[in-house]
Parts: sequence; structure tokens; C-alpha cells
Amino acid sequence: MVSSIPLRPHSHPRAEERRQGRRVSKDAPDCTREPSGASFETPAARAPQDEGGAESGERERIAARAAAARVADPEIPVLTIDDLGILHDVAIDAAGQVVVTILPTYSGCPAMGVIALGVEAELAEAGFSGARVRLSNTPAWSTDFMSEAAREKLRAYGISPPERGAGKRALFAPSASVACPRCGSEDTERVSEFGSTACKAHWRCLACREPFDHFKCI
Ligand SMILES: [Zn+2]
Repeated sequence: MVSSIPLRPHSHPRAEERRQGRRVSKDAPDCTREPSGASFETPAARAPQDEGGAESGERERIAARAAAARVADPEIPVLTIDDLGILHDVAIDAAGQVVVTILPTYSGCPAMGVIALGVEAELAEAGFSGARVRLSNTPAWSTDFMSEAAREKLRAYGISPPERGAGKRALFAPSASVACPRCGSEDTERVSEFGSTACKAHWRCLACREPFDHFKCI
């Protein structure tokens, strides 16, 4: 079951206007309110919904998913939200609007608001103007959702990827050994529990002497 958590604190001003616009009564003198027909301008809504509608609806959904999948993580720009497994679901609702469900990495992650804005912008560029983004805590995101390709990209970027299957226990028993993403040596030591962002720890390699970040397991 997907719970819908509005992205109030990080809302795009226009998204906020749209939300408020829905609550404003029709005769309210609100010039910022979008026309009520705005949501029917999406390509999905223009597609016939009866004959062949299901097929073209699915094509629209796939196009919308591809657009959302291009959004990069603001903290680790080499990874997309699809690489990270944050992009959970892309659907088209009865009104023809795209609804994107993303999974927060950890509560309070400052990147989520930026990611939601990025998704809205990318979809608008692809022609899906009324897209909505919602957060879901089900399923709970884990670093295990990260694809193998994403782990390789992280390593190439100089960040040691999280181990697979470490589970929540890793929060209390940090990895005993983390391989250096540059030389592969396991002769490494943790310098600090926090690196450039809260989800990374700062390590250094005793073999090649290079410092590096390690993406923590959750
Ligand atoms: Zn090294």
C-alpha cells in the first residue's frame, strides 16, 4: 500500500499553487489558479482511452518512466534515481496525469525535495506538464535496491559502494573492511562516520594513501 506524503516543505512554488488551487472555490478571485482543464493537456489525456487506449496509455507511461529515470541524484550526479532504486513507480491516473512514486533513502535526506523538483521538470520537458511526485515509505528503501551497474558507476566515481545484503545491522556494526575504490586494497581505515553527505562515511586507503567516501549500507 502506497502512502501519499505531500512534499510540502520542498514544494515547487508552482506545484504549491496548483495544490492550493484545487482547494480554492471556483469563484474565488485567484489569478494564480490554473485553469481546471490544465491536467487534460497531458499527452496521456489526449490519447484515446477506449479503443487502443490501453496500448497508447502504456506507451505514455513508458515514456514518462523513461523521462523520470533520467533524473540524476543531486548528491551523486553519476547515478540516476533509477540506478539508486529510488524511482519506484510511474503510473497515469484516471485524469491522465503522471504520478511518480519515489522512495526516500533515509528520513530527512535533503536530496528528496530536489529530486522531486527534478522529476517534475524532466517530465514537463517530455510533455507531461501536470506530473505529481509522491513519497512512499513502502517498501522501505535499502542500498540493496541499487543496481550492480550503479555500484560500478560509484566505484568509477571514487566512492566505495555499499555491500549487498548488509541489512539494517550495518548501522550498528559498520563494515570491518571496505575496499579502496581506486586501488582495490582492503588496507583501509575509517576517518569519520560522515563524509561529504550524511549517507557516506569518510575513509582512507593505507595502501595508495588516497581518501575516499564509502556509501553506507542501510
Ligand atoms: Zn587505495
